Amino acid sequence: MSAEAKLREEIVRYGQSMFERRLTFGSSGNISARLDDGWLMTPTNVSLGRLDPARLTKLDEKGNLVSGDAPTKEKFLHIAMYRERAKARAVIHLHSTHSVAVSCLEGIDTDDVLPPITAYYIMRVGRLPLVPYYPPGDEALAEAVRAKATKHSAVLLANHGPVVTGTSLDAAVNATEELEETARLYLMLHGRETRFLDPAAVEALRKKYPIE
Ligand SMILES: [Zn+2]
Repeated sequence: MSAEAKLREEIVRYGQSMFERRLTFGSSGNISARLDDGWLMTPTNVSLGRLDPARLTKLDEKGNLVSGDAPTKEKFLHIAMYRERAKARAVIHLHSTHSVAVSCLEGIDTDDVLPPITAYYIMRVGRLPLVPYYPPGDEALAEAVRAKATKHSAVLLANHGPVVTGTSLDAAVNATEELEETARLYLMLHGRETRFLDPAAVEALRKKYPIE
């Protein structure tokens, strides 16, 4: 099986897995992966639970359609992340409930939305900036995402959801899940006195496990 054929199968498998675990729903959410000469991306108006490997969108290096169905309307979010993250091989964008809930909270730190609850969050997601709200399809959102992606492998779109990169599809899925579970923990801990990781421990993790 060619590398591209294998990647197509992986996108379908991860899409179905995330859909079945209710990490995304309806036709929301999209997955992309880098090829040597462009990208594979999930098509518009299709459930991640019912993807067809043969119909995935294939784009060239400029983002033009090569084959498959029309791309997700959020294509520009993915391309904005790849343009700034040279080592990113995959991007996942979901409307995962707990991450979206956190993206709507008043008073959060827009430079780093979630506190350091666990070491794995620091190792897989790192710092998570909030990108201001723009309506769906607004190209200004791509610029706002690019501005944050220069220094971050993941961003949270206000009142919308996360966009997460990885050095492989597997890594991007793991980071997305880590983010969603950390958002869930954060909401669970609301109103309770909480001991977060101390700044020295966080710094040590950031040094030892830099995020690419
Ligand atoms: Zn979206």
